[in-house]
Amino acid sequence: MTTLTFDSLNPATGEVIGSHPKQGPEAVRDAVGRAEEAAAWWAGLGHAERRRRLLDYKAVIAQHLKELAELVHQETGKTVGDATLEIVLAITHIDWAARNAQKVLGRRRVSTGMIGLNLAATLEYLPLGVVAVIGPWNYPLFTPMGSIAYALAAGNAVVFKPSELTPGVGVRMAELFAESVPEHPVFQTVTGLGETGAALAGDPRVGKVAFTGSTATAKRVMAACAENLTPIVAECGGKDAFIVDADADVARAADACLWGAMSNAGQTCAGVERVYVVDAVYESFMRELSERVAKVRAGEDYGPITMPGQVDIIKRHIDDAAKSGKVVAGGPDAVRAPYVDPVIVEDVPEDSPAVREETFGPTITVRRTRDAQEALELANASAYGLGGTVFSRNVRRAMEMARMMRTGMTAINSVISFAGVPALPFGGVGDSGFGRIHGADGLREFARPKAISRQRFAMPGMNLTSFARGPAEVERLIRLVTFLHGRRKR
Ligand code: NDP
Repeated sequence: MTTLTFDSLNPATGEVIGSHPKQGPEAVRDAVGRAEEAAAWWAGLGHAERRRRLLDYKAVIAQHLKELAELVHQETGKTVGDATLEIVLAITHIDWAARNAQKVLGRRRVSTGMIGLNLAATLEYLPLGVVAVIGPWNYPLFTPMGSIAYALAAGNAVVFKPSELTPGVGVRMAELFAESVPEHPVFQTVTGLGETGAALAGDPRVGKVAFTGSTATAKRVMAACAENLTPIVAECGGKDAFIVDADADVARAADACLWGAMSNAGQTCAGVERVYVVDAVYESFMRELSERVAKVRAGEDYGPITMPGQVDIIKRHIDDAAKSGKVVAGGPDAVRAPYVDPVIVEDVPEDSPAVREETFGPTITVRRTRDAQEALELANASAYGLGGTVFSRNVRRAMEMARMMRTGMTAINSVISFAGVPALPFGGVGDSGFGRIHGADGLREFARPKAISRQRFAMPGMNLTSFARGPAEVERLIRLVTFLHGRRKR
């Protein structure tokens, strides 16, 4: 007999934290039906009232910060400090989305150009209706909130399917929203395993799916969405590179690199996984890195591996890297499930799994490069393209390298700092997915542009969209276009 509920466990202790229903296709259909009605009401409230409600939700989250951090800590195993940080970031995103939705999406007049002189044109971004958010476990509050807050601010209702590893956080997020919006179920959470997500993505009434998780699952979700031509924004994994240029502050670079790679046990989609260091500073950087890594402890500075199956992938990468490269810290013995101690391996061939595949563990490979150009070429030779880092004291050069990095985001002289700037869009290219959450692009991702042109007066002698049009009008049009556009720029 199939069970109707599933447990969420503390990955550090195995202790049961909560039991949640496995919501099947029927329950999901009901939730989407309720969301459809709620969406019409929510859209009708208008920008000003939605802003007020979302800012209130932000305050409710802030008031429950400690409780939520404890729940995130229990379900993921991450430290309470890291859990707190992720909630604080989510709060800043709710705030930004609420305050900027009208400015970004609201109605505005646009220029009509000379040929449309007799028209008035307006553009606005209207809600899609119901947005389905399918979330991951690694940042169970911050990551889905990057879609949820922006979708809500754009006037949509949301049905959220959290990862089966972190259902409690998802349930609480929707419960707290109902304190600010008690009238209708504008934000609902459905719990369950992969099938629950599949039922949600396949519902034809869903206006858009916001998916965060692995590239493989994104492809399955896209296939389900294809049936109904449902658009999707896909935030998948990464294999982010960290470049240390010849004039970098190596002490700061080593400090940032270590945190970017090991915090949250490396379970960060935009975490540091590959490090490329220019020859001139290689020795000094490695000295700084080795000194620092000796003080970082699994189980103290960061928590366990949240998803038990991931330990095998991490172990396979470490074992392989240790055979072909030179171990600087950790090595095969670092894996003592559910914990993995920090691992640093030098000179791992670029075609090995530890360099090519997403590890999602507290491990890095480090490689010496001739110069920054070679570092950039190696960084870009990845199927993924989510984020990345450049350390350099030369701002112009760092900006140039950041722009040439084939990723959606790059941090300079800091790690992952782009995720904390709500105005910046977040998302990747290639196997890292497409579409953007956060910022103005993140708001527009959950809305449809609505274009309206209104004729203000009939243009004398220029009635072009009529069967009454004569050759003289066409002649006049040719003269006008030649005057406006017919001069070559040489
Ligand atoms: P998945 O891609 O398997 O799951 C992500 C979400 O999709 C979960 O809510 C999951 O539900 C749901 N899901 C699973 N199958 C389907 C389906 N057929 N249709 C719709 N939804 C579905 O990621 P995992 O959590 O298993 O993590 C595996 C890998 O994903 C990691 O190793 C890492 O590489 C990557 N990852 C990337 C993240 C990022 O932020 N970019 C975040 C987390 C993981 P359920 O949990 O119930 O299976």
